[in-house]
Parts: sequence; C-alpha cells; structure tokens
Amino acid sequence: MSARDVDVLVVGGGPAGSVAALEARRADGGLDVLMVERDRAVGVPVRCAEGVGDAGLREFANPDGAPWVARKITRVIFLAPDDTAVKVAERDVGWILDRTRFDAMLAAEAGAAGAHVWVGTEATRMTRCTDGRWHVTLRGGALRDDETVRARVVIGADGVETMVGRWAGLDTRVPARDMESCAQYVIQGIDFDPDAIYLQFGDAVAPGGYAWLFPRGTDAANVGLGIVALKSDGRNAREYLDAWIARRYPGGTRTGYTVGGVIVHTTARRISTDGVMLVGDAAHMINPLSGGGIVNAMKAGRLAGRAAAAAIRDGDTSADRLARFHRDWMALLGDDHLKYYRIKQALEDLDDAFFNSLARTVNGIPEPKRTLGRIFAHALVRHPQLIPVAARFFI
Ligand code: FAD
Repeated sequence: MSARDVDVLVVGGGPAGSVAALEARRADGGLDVLMVERDRAVGVPVRCAEGVGDAGLREFANPDGAPWVARKITRVIFLAPDDTAVKVAERDVGWILDRTRFDAMLAAEAGAAGAHVWVGTEATRMTRCTDGRWHVTLRGGALRDDETVRARVVIGADGVETMVGRWAGLDTRVPARDMESCAQYVIQGIDFDPDAIYLQFGDAVAPGGYAWLFPRGTDAANVGLGIVALKSDGRNAREYLDAWIARRYPGGTRTGYTVGGVIVHTTARRISTDGVMLVGDAAHMINPLSGGGIVNAMKAGRLAGRAAAAAIRDGDTSADRLARFHRDWMALLGDDHLKYYRIKQALEDLDDAFFNSLARTVNGIPEPKRTLGRIFAHALVRHPQLIPVAARFFI
C-alpha cells in the first residue's frame, strides 16, 4: 500500500465537489487538490429533476446557448389537488439542465484549474492521525491496490448518504419526517407545455412532497414525485408516481427511471471539524421548501474551497478556524433555510381543501400579473389561515 500527500481532498464529484476543487485551486494555484468520484463517470447516473433558477446558475456559468442546458423555462404551472391549474408568469424563471453534461463541465473546469480528478475511485475509510492530517483510503479507478492519501483538509461532498461526515464524527442523521423518497421517469411522447414546469401538491398525489413535470425538450420530460414515507398510505414513491402518470400523462414511453432521497431539513448542526468541511447534500444544504439543492451545493462548494485554501495558507485547519465556513454558510443561505423550514412546517398543517380554494382565488388575478409575490399577498387577504405562516417566515 502506497501513500500520497495532498493539501485538499474532495470526496464526491457532484456540483458541490467540483466547485470546491475549482475554488480551492483558484484561491491558491500552488495547492495540491484531488477530487475523487466513486462513479465511473461524473454526472452519471442522474438522480435529479435538473431544474435550477436563472440567477443562481449565472453565478457559476452562462446558460445561454450552453450545450449542458436541456430547456429554458419561462412559466410555472401549479396544480391544486383537485387539478385546478394556476399559471404563474415570471420572465426567465429558470433552466432544466442536462446534468450528465453539466456536472462533467464543472469537473472539467476544476481539472483545467489544476485539480486532479479521479473517477471510479471511492473513499472507503478515513482516520485522523497524529501528524494532524486525515488518512483516507481510496479504492478503484486507476489504482491497482488500496491507496492512502494524507490530506490537510478533506471536503465531504459525498451527497445524501455521506460517509465523510460519519467518519469525522459529525452527526448527519435526518429525522424521518424530513426525508423525502423520490421516484422519477424520463417520459417521451406526452402532452405538456415545453416552456413550463408543472408542480402538483396533495395528500393523494404526493403526501409530504409534490409531483413535478420538468421538460427536457418539446417531447421528453422528467416526471417524478417525492413523498414522506411516514405520511404515505402504504404505497412507495414509485406506486404514487405510477398512479399520477396514469391519470395525468397516460400513453407515453418511459425511457428512464431513477430513485433518490432528498433531505428537506435545515443545515446539519455541525458541518465542520478539525480538517473537515461538509458541503451540499452531505451537509443538508437543500432548500427545505423546494427540495432544490444544485445551486446551494455550488455556493457551499465555493465557500469551502476558499476556506480550505485560506486555512492552509495560515497554517490553521483546526475546528475553530473551519467553523468560519459554517458561519459564512449560515449568513449566505443557512439562516434562510431555517425560515423556509418553518414555512414548510406551517404548510403541512393545511389540507387539500385549502389549496383547492387558494388556487381558485389566485386564478382571479389576471394572468400577466400573477407573480409569486402577488399570489402570496392575495392569499393572505382571502385566506387568513396563511397569516401565521407569513408571521413565522418573518420572525
Ligand atoms: P451529489 O450530486 O449527490 O454528488 C455527490 C457525489 O459523491 C456523487 O456523484 C457520488 O457518487 C459521490 N460519492 C459519494 N460517496 C463517495 C465516496 N465514498 N467516494 C467517492 N465519491 C463518492 N435539486 C435541484 O436543484 N433541482 C432539481 O430539480 C432537483 N431534483 C431532484 C430530484 C430527485 C429525484 C433528487 C433525488 C434530487 C433532486 N435535487 C434537485 C437535489 C440535487 O440533485 C442535489 O441537491 C445535488 O445533486 C447536490 O449536489 P452534491 O454535489 O451535494 O451531491
């Protein structure tokens, strides 16, 4: 067994990991940065509906005409539990990515900045040694035998099932009520507005979560849903999804299927310790209302990559020093997620009848004026039950 020293080891080649590796190198071109990805190719398999907002994405890459974009989205259509459709008009709402290409593009940027990227290579264990470094065992890829890497800083970007967090002694458990089980098909040959994303709520449709259709083009879409198992009637996510598709999108051809977990909680209580930072899904940095985590993962990766470079430069990678990264994350988005989580909890108390009546109220607003802000303001007036939700948002 051989050993190798690196300054920064990034475990996981998703959006969080690639941006962390890129930013560490950008901050200090002298750093030896290694990113390992367990899967044989970055971006494969895709376990995601691939939707992102315009502004967040543009902080990292220009989507106009980019080969890693599947579709531009300019409308959101909410479907109430009784199928009442509410069209929301927003300009440049967002994008559906082609994550196979997008994730590969991010990893290639990290590589171009000088980070080493090893695919098919899994981190299998990690221990803190007396030399003040983390010794991480790597397996697979181009390695003939297990190899130990000694790292000053390890960035755990290893997704929902993070092992780096556990190895480092960080508590990354999630309450069952805040874990959504998702199922999704890629479906061809069904009818939908290719410029719109569709979201449907309702206990019979997707208890504790929602169902979605995100266009990948004019003829293909990601069609999926997430449920909280504790709230289900005994069916799993795929069974709910099959029922939803049979009712709303019969007749298409299913050309892809995936499952995955989404943590709709708040940022983990501790996301850093001596020589370790967790980023993205590994640190529960998903928006608990929307379940979106791609842009959050990239923003956290940027903070962590820069924090790692600064800590190494100053010769201090202690838990105290890396706690700055946690504080910066909370100021950037983590505190907002606490508010969104409170809204999520309040919405859970409202039943299908409430959402059906809200949809009819909102449809009274002329379509061009139907922005999310206006909808919320109208809803407050007509549905006083929402006032406590708003109050919880602002405190
Ligand atoms: P990931 O993208 O999960 O990357 C983690 C990587 O680490 C993986 O590639 C994994 O193979 C690798 N890895 C794990 N362990 C090891 C190890 N020991 N050694 C080496 N490599 C390892 N978010 C949105 O913003 N919009 C959406 O529309 C959306 N839809 C979703 C739909 C579904 C069904 C699901 C499940 C999630 C969805 N999300 C969505 C969430 C989004 O996919 C994640 O938030 C995002 O991918 C997080 O990025 P990440 O880099 O933290 O983790």
